[in-house]
Parts: sequence; C-alpha cells; structure tokens
Amino acid sequence: MHGTKHLFIPGPTNIPEEVRRAMNVPMEDMRAPDYADFVLGLLADMKKVYRLDNGRVFIFPSSGTGAWESAIQNTLSPGDTVLMSRFGQFSLLWVDMAERLGLKVKLCEVEWGKGVPVEDYARILSEDTTHTIKAVFTTQNETATGVTSDIAGVRKALDSANHPALLFVDGVSSIGSIPFEMEKWGVDLAVSGSQKGFMLPAGLGFLGVSDKALAAHASNAPKMSRCYFSWEDMIKLNDTGYFPYTPATQLMRGLRVSLDMMLADGLEAIWARHAYHAEGVRRAVAAWDGCELVASGPEWVSDTVSAIYTPDGVDARDVIAGAYGKYQTSLGTGLNKLAGRAFRIGHLGSLNPVMLCGAISAAEMALMDAGAKITPGAGVAAAQEHYRSASA
Ligand SMILES: *Cc1c(COP(=O)(O)O)cnc(C)c1O
Repeated sequence: MHGTKHLFIPGPTNIPEEVRRAMNVPMEDMRAPDYADFVLGLLADMKKVYRLDNGRVFIFPSSGTGAWESAIQNTLSPGDTVLMSRFGQFSLLWVDMAERLGLKVKLCEVEWGKGVPVEDYARILSEDTTHTIKAVFTTQNETATGVTSDIAGVRKALDSANHPALLFVDGVSSIGSIPFEMEKWGVDLAVSGSQKGFMLPAGLGFLGVSDKALAAHASNAPKMSRCYFSWEDMIKLNDTGYFPYTPATQLMRGLRVSLDMMLADGLEAIWARHAYHAEGVRRAVAAWDGCELVASGPEWVSDTVSAIYTPDGVDARDVIAGAYGKYQTSLGTGLNKLAGRAFRIGHLGSLNPVMLCGAISAAEMALMDAGAKITPGAGVAAAQEHYRSASA
C-alpha cells in the first residue's frame, strides 16, 4: 500500500505528531522524587479542560468505560434509584452497566436521533418530592447517532425541582471538543477518555468530580463494592503527586503535550474549530441524494461525529467496507440497530478541512460504488464551499 491510511472513526482519533513523539520515551520511575510535580501539573490542567474550579479530576489507567464504573461505585449504593435515558449504543451500555451494578434504573426510552429528554426529566424530577432518585444520568454526545444533548437544561430541571440528585455526564466524545462547563453547569461526575478529543491512544479514563460528589463519597453513604476504581487510595496518593498503582507513564507524557496544545489553542477556539469542521460534513450529507443525518433535527446535531443514513437499498456495511478496501479510509460503523443503515464520519480531534474533504470524497466514492445515485463531487463541492466561505 502506498500513501497513508485515513482514519475518520470517532475514536481513536488522529494524533498530532508532537503528541505521538512525546510518548516515544524510555520507561521511567513513577515513584521518583521529581515525578510528583509532573503528575500534579497534569491533574491541575485536566481541571482547566473540564472547566472545574473546585473538585478534582482522576486519571485511571483504563478506557472511558472504567471511569463510568468509578463514577457509579464511589457515589451510589445497590438498590438506589437513578434516572437514565437510552437513545444510542453508548447511553444503552451505561444503562446496562448501572443495572449490572445493582441500581434501579428509571428509564426514559428515546427514539434514536434525539437525545436526553429534558422535559421528561424535569417532570419526573418535580414529581419526585421524596427524592428517591439519587442520580440523573446524561450522555452529552451520543457517539452512535451523532446527537448532542442539553446538559445545562438538565441542570435547570434539577434546580427548578429543587432536587438534590447528583448529575452524571458521559462526556467521552464531547469534553475537550465541544462546549462543556463542569462547574457552571453544576455537573457532579463527568466521564471522558483519552482517545477522542484528547488526541491520544486509548488507555486513560478521566473522571471529573465535583465537591458535592466528593462529599457524597466521603459521607460513607455509598455502599457499592469497589477496589480498582476506588477513590480513597487514589485521593491519598494523588494529593502527593503519585498513584496507588502503576500509572500509564507514556500515555501521560502524551497527555502533557496534548494538554499543552489544547490550552494554548484555547477551549473556545477548539469548540469553534469543531463546529466549523462539522458543518462542512453536514453540507456534504445534505448534497448527497437519499442520505440523511441520523440526528433528527438541527437542535440535536453533533460537532464531533455525524451518523449518516444511506439511501434506501444501499447497505452501509458495503460503504464502510468499500471505503476501507478500495480507498484506505476508515469510516465509523452503524452500531446496534443502525448496522447496515448508517455509517459515521468522526470529525473530532486533530483535523483540518483538507483531511475532511478527503473523508467526504472517500465516503462519496464508496457510496456510489455501493449503488447510491449521487452526483459525483456533490458532497465535496458543498464542503469546499463552506470551508472557503467560513473559517474556524
Ligand atoms: C467511546 C465512548 C465510550 C466508551 O469509551 P471507551 O474508552 O471505549 O471505554 C463511552 N461513551 C461514549 C459517548 C463514547 O463515545
């Protein structure tokens, strides 16, 4: 094969060369006296990306799923009632985890293409006058469907009901890419992972926790069994700049550089860049006859990933296989009930308009090869028009 392979799945994302090189270092002593300053700097800068003044951020050697588990185990007890909604593969998996860990899930089933049902949450919370609901779960960006939800709206629903439940957010494919304000939105637990907006390989699970979540943990009320993901040992060692077990030292060297890049760019600029990139992809989809976003309206569209229905009679699996086999381009698959019906273009992380024009071109060719009746170049032209006339 000549040239490079092209990666447009919504994680792992493309890694800047500076980040990749920063991880090519000899193994180091994670108990060395000068390691603490390095760790304390990382933990402090993670709070900046989370937009967290108080509270803290944990870094686990795990994928994002581990941070999901840590959030639940350290603040809740088996049998607790929690409010959740399901509208895609990732929100579905978090519900599954909550049930397996013994929580009683009050579930809002939402059609795929929409997100967190804020009005339903508001009604349920205002009716829960005895406060049996201990936590409210949200998936800010449903990566399977390309849908972004209104987390500030959920905060408002909690506040107007005067409800004390903890607010959980899955921000794996949103934090560090699109607006997320942990402190301002009163988020209590916010999960992320290294391989999406943070532009790193998989292997670090991030968990932002508010002072309120830390207090819930310290009260000894949560009675769920926990060990590896327990906060007790982590807090004790993190406060001195160390970890209770071997940290992923190379990934953390990469994280140092990705955080430097993110903070130098500025979060507002990163959010604007993602919106600019995403809009080009959406223009392309609109120009492809018979294709449509899975997101069911402009209020739901995601700036980190687009899930795209293929035209009737065109199997999305053929599009994905063709793009990879013939054009060396990885597109995201349709997950669960979207298998065969949709493919995804990940547009988060370290990208630029020319890379995205490449992704759109590959998808367009693969769509036509799979039988879609679209005008050659229509999507690319629409994206070019946007990238030329606007800027990040
Ligand atoms: C990727 C993703 C996850 C899972 O994270 P892992 O790092 O694969 O464990 C969870 N939620 C969302 C929204 C995701 O995009």
